[in-house]
Amino acid sequence: MENVKWKIIDFSKFSSIKIGPKIKVKLLSEDNYNGEFIIGKATNTLISPNTENLAVLDDRYKYIKIKNGYLHVGGKTNNQILYNFCKKNNIGGFEFLSKLPGTIGGSVKMNAGVKEYEISNHLAAIKTTEGLKEKKEFEFSYRHSNINEPVFEAVFEIKGKFDFDLDLELKKIRSNQPKEPSLGSVFKNPDNDYAGRLIESVGMKGMVKGGVKVSEIHANFFVNTGDGTFDDMLFLINEAKKRVFENFGILLKEEIKII
Ligand SMILES: Cc1cc2nc3c(=O)[nH]c(=O)nc-3n(C[C@H](O)[C@H](O)[C@H](O)COP(=O)(O)OP(=O)(O)OC[C@H]3O[C@@H](n4cnc5c(N)ncnc54)[C@H](O)[C@@H]3O)c2cc1C
Repeated sequence: MENVKWKIIDFSKFSSIKIGPKIKVKLLSEDNYNGEFIIGKATNTLISPNTENLAVLDDRYKYIKIKNGYLHVGGKTNNQILYNFCKKNNIGGFEFLSKLPGTIGGSVKMNAGVKEYEISNHLAAIKTTEGLKEKKEFEFSYRHSNINEPVFEAVFEIKGKFDFDLDLELKKIRSNQPKEPSLGSVFKNPDNDYAGRLIESVGMKGMVKGGVKVSEIHANFFVNTGDGTFDDMLFLINEAKKRVFENFGILLKEEIKII
């Protein structure tokens, strides 16, 4: 095992919801993974004050290369960097990344996407601690994959041209989202319904707990109004689950990861 390096990260600044402790985090490479919880950009992860055992990929995993007709993207690469690369090089299938914060590693793990456009659509393989593994070794579904190891690299098929109309259409969908710090959608949409609609129906739109508010623009976004805490978030999450279950018999499932 090579020398392990560490980095202090203040998650109250680093995470997209601006909640979390300032702690020592391991810098991960292919030969030093030891079961830590991996953080990409923490745009979908709520981190408790007592969390330990976190890791982020080393900066060497920030790259985009074209090799033998495939796109090889380092797991720490920002989604927007890949989007810009594909736009510039006329590569289709990644238009949805334009307004989707996070890293490629986190996005592959989450099977992130917008509507039917998901990161797994063009995925061919991932590089983990055990080398390259084909996509068919994993399961991908709506905002979920069963990947339980670090994604050091994602390999994508190059097919289709960059779709400028789709790009515009997807950007429009995003234009009415809350601008305050958040983790995006807190819950997955249940079958044939919308988590935001259900949360609004149980009277929680605009509800405030401490420094966290259920957004008035989109009730499935819980936003940090300044001094929001982990407990404020947890309270609103549990309250939404309780009310929606009591009123509709539907158990909302978190899209975000809570650690
Ligand atoms: C304003 C806003 C809007 C959003 N809109 C959308 C949307 O439209 N669609 C959508 O799908 N998501 C959306 N999200 C959520 C978020 O953008 C995605 O889930 C994103 O892919 C998370 O990337 P990340 O690097 O921040 O992951 P993190 O939050 O850091 O981690 C998420 C999960 O991935 C794992 N992980 C992270 N990096 C790696 C790695 N290298 N290897 C293995 N596992 C890893 C973590 O352990 C964790 O389980 C939104 C978020 C925000 C804040």
